[in-house]
Amino acid sequence: MLLVLRGLSLMGRREIVKNLIYKSSSRTLASLYQYRPHPVKLIPIGIYNNDKIKIIKCKFHTTQRLCIPPVLALIIRPLTRFGALLFGRLFKRWWSRKTPEEKEMYKKWFSARRQKIYGALGFLLVSLFTVYALHLETDPLTGRTRFIFLNDEQQDALGQLTLDAHLEQHNHLIVPKNHPAYIRLSSITDRILMANEDLPQVAKRKWTLTVIDSDLKNAFVLPSGNIFVFLGALRMTENDDQLAIILAHEIAHVLLLHPIEQVSRSIMLDILLALPIALIWAMFPDLLAIVFQALGVNIADILLTLPYSRQLENEADYVGLKLAAKACFDVREAVVLWGLMRSLTELNVASKEIPWLSTHPNHEDRERNLNAKLPEAINLRMGRKCPRLNPVDPIKFFNSLTIKEREARLKANGIL
Ligand SMILES: [Zn+2]
Repeated sequence: MLLVLRGLSLMGRREIVKNLIYKSSSRTLASLYQYRPHPVKLIPIGIYNNDKIKIIKCKFHTTQRLCIPPVLALIIRPLTRFGALLFGRLFKRWWSRKTPEEKEMYKKWFSARRQKIYGALGFLLVSLFTVYALHLETDPLTGRTRFIFLNDEQQDALGQLTLDAHLEQHNHLIVPKNHPAYIRLSSITDRILMANEDLPQVAKRKWTLTVIDSDLKNAFVLPSGNIFVFLGALRMTENDDQLAIILAHEIAHVLLLHPIEQVSRSIMLDILLALPIALIWAMFPDLLAIVFQALGVNIADILLTLPYSRQLENEADYVGLKLAAKACFDVREAVVLWGLMRSLTELNVASKEIPWLSTHPNHEDRERNLNAKLPEAINLRMGRKCPRLNPVDPIKFFNSLTIKEREARLKANGIL
């Protein structure tokens, strides 16, 4: 609540955006926009100083687009959720103060205008659908139709805003360029990007790399092409080929505009959820309303958001595999990598995730899906005149190991 009020009162200032990112519990923001890479020169985002929250016309696309200011994309979730809650609750209190006669009068008033009210709601839904349809486009790499609500400039601006905030937060943990981990990661990243320069999605971005001194086993890429890796991610892998698979997966997320697609989709979902949330708060006592809202949001997550998130992960796995293949990495190591992760679960080191409650496919599914795409990736690799693959197939070798032998291997390589 405090967050929303601060956002509203200070709209248009970069500082408030930073606060929003630091404090927002929104999974979308936390997971989509990550930390600012090291060597990037901070570019002041001046366009927000005079921005008002209004619908603005965007650059011509295939159709004339209506887009929203990037700052609104950041606050739309707390804004709609809190607005709907407040509206429903105020309505409930207002209604409770009415006498039976007044209630009867309002009911008659509603009945007399029922068709007009339903018509207005229908018009709103049709308008939303029209906006949705006008912002659909086909991804050139996957052929999948996606909803993108932000134009190129707004995507960059939104990424920059969140980037600045996270850079400030992690600035003291950024490792220097002469750090061995930076040198290793930089050479792998360069190899992937240079091998894929034929893709406009790669060529048009200014890619940078930042390594963060943290045990977190993770890596991220920002929408504008800023790659960052936590040192802990290096301890997840056994060799450069596996590390390349992780980096290529993250790069694929950017090429496929996944972060922007997720923000666009959550804006639309949040708008659609506003009416049910307002109704819940208008109809039920506060305690029940809290329970029903949490239940409803979780059900929407399980049915809509999580399967969609897993779909994006599978897409990034597939496209990332091809990026790594073009860069002549041994793509078979992708299957081994997820086999290693599966082994951690089998050894009870990592908890077994419930597939339908997870944002990511489980390790076995990723291993199986990547294995299925391997012939295509190996063909792609052969077409690039890469050095011959090692005749010892790392997948066959890995699968021949017992669980005890895998445990020893994980320990020997510092993963366990
Ligand atoms: Zn991913």
